[in-house]
Amino acid sequence: MKIKKDKFFRERGSSAKIIKVQCIKCGDMLLTYQKDGPGWLKRCYLNRIISPENYHDLQFNKTLKEKDLGNLVCACGKVIGSPMKHKDGRLAFHLIRGNFKRLIAKNS
Ligand SMILES: [Zn+2]
Repeated sequence: MKIKKDKFFRERGSSAKIIKVQCIKCGDMLLTYQKDGPGWLKRCYLNRIISPENYHDLQFNKTLKEKDLGNLVCACGKVIGSPMKHKDGRLAFHLIRGNFKRLIAKNS
């Protein structure tokens, strides 16, 4: 797994963690995610999703709109996040606190 080092990474102090987001209900892994900078994981930007491929590839869909993104839903039906647009224009999932667990896979 490779950490993306771009302007977002530098703006957040040039530190990042690889985090796995897990469903609180069934324990399934939903996303592997690069979290830039310190602090609590509140949202997952599409351009920071490492896997699975179907979510990772969303960042390359330039016509994708917030309303088309839909919720981040686990296979068990638990809703983990809702679509949002950050002020910088990036699409993200706003994570619902208490519906997920995070596992830190790697520090950088
Ligand atoms: Zn689940």
